[in-house]
Amino acid sequence: MKKNNYGNIKFCKKCLYSSYHPLGIVINENGICSGCQIHEEKNTIYWPNKWNELKKLVNDYKLKKNNFYDCIVPVCGGKDSFFTVHVVKNLLKMNPLLVCYNKYWNTPIGIKNLSTLRIKFNCDILFQNVNPIKVKKITKATLYKLGSMYWHYLAGSTVFPVQVSVKYKIPLIIWGAHQGLEQVGMYSHYDNVEMTRRYRKNHDLMGIEAENLIESSDNLKESDIFQYFYPDDYQLHKNGTRGIYLGNYIRWDVKKQHELMIKLYNYKTFKFNRTVDCYDFVDSFNYMNLHDKIKLFKHGFSKITDQLSREIRFKRIDRDSALKIVRKCEKKESLFEKNFCEWLNIDLESLNYFLDTLKNKNFWVQKDVTNWKFKGLSYLNMTKKNGNSKIKYIQNAKLKKNAKYIIFGKGISDFNEVL
Ligand SMILES: [Zn+2]
Repeated sequence: MKKNNYGNIKFCKKCLYSSYHPLGIVINENGICSGCQIHEEKNTIYWPNKWNELKKLVNDYKLKKNNFYDCIVPVCGGKDSFFTVHVVKNLLKMNPLLVCYNKYWNTPIGIKNLSTLRIKFNCDILFQNVNPIKVKKITKATLYKLGSMYWHYLAGSTVFPVQVSVKYKIPLIIWGAHQGLEQVGMYSHYDNVEMTRRYRKNHDLMGIEAENLIESSDNLKESDIFQYFYPDDYQLHKNGTRGIYLGNYIRWDVKKQHELMIKLYNYKTFKFNRTVDCYDFVDSFNYMNLHDKIKLFKHGFSKITDQLSREIRFKRIDRDSALKIVRKCEKKESLFEKNFCEWLNIDLESLNYFLDTLKNKNFWVQKDVTNWKFKGLSYLNMTKKNGNSKIKYIQNAKLKKNAKYIIFGKGISDFNEVL
């Protein structure tokens, strides 16, 4: 156990996580975290049995109640959108309705991916475009109240599929991986954990549902935020709405899956400034930039720690090399902040002044007005040696420095271009 200025903190011997994690992590007597322990199940589970379990489960939903759609698949143009649709459409032979909540900070590459997804998989896609004026009002409120610029997206993207399920009477929602399981081992693969309102509230939304936002904000009215209300239990029960995660039934490995999607469907990727992973968040200007910077301010670690902890578990990089990369990436500039300020109509300087107030004093020490000393989790984590293992990502597109938000985008897929 390492003694430091914010109490006793334990680091996992295997990955880069510590007991200081917003989702909660437990480190056992051998120094291995709950996330690494649950990850090991990926190597011991007999996956063909799990696959059969899934096939049996979805069979009950195929063309149930004469609906045109067998299930709903939430997509975003990045992350696990392609692989999930690939499994549902091609392997499970289901007809999904794709649903996408518009975050408004769309990259041209994310829009292109969405278009490719719609056309190459021949699927219908339903967009939720909440009035941008309301979205900006909500973003301002959550940024300054909760220190979260992402609340509107997290709330919208997790509630819209559920609303569509009720409205269109399509009970089954199929998600990709469950973050709590994959990152911190909150559940076992054997639990077959399903979507719940409670997990959404406690973890996705940091304990604040739309109703709570109205209570705590003078500027937000019910009419601003009703589109983020979760359907009530009666409606959900009557419809039989349930959300399952493919990660419980398939040996989930995002890096491999993305590489397969690049090969099969020309999924587009690009290089970010603050990470080496070009795959996950290509649909958003902010996730790996401003949002990632805020994460580092508040929690003492950024997304690269999540991504490389996962890669260590898959044995694609050693722990010391990963730490070295983390320390480098954390210092990198967050890009496109000006675009965000223009979109929200706020001043960049005052935004940065506010963001300084979010800095976790356990990791950030203020020297003078503009000078801070950072000693985050990656610096408290020990390294025995300088590793040199390299991890490779395929990069097949570029995001221009002067790129602008695609507020509403149809996009052009490769399929269109060929035609
Ligand atoms: Zn671990």
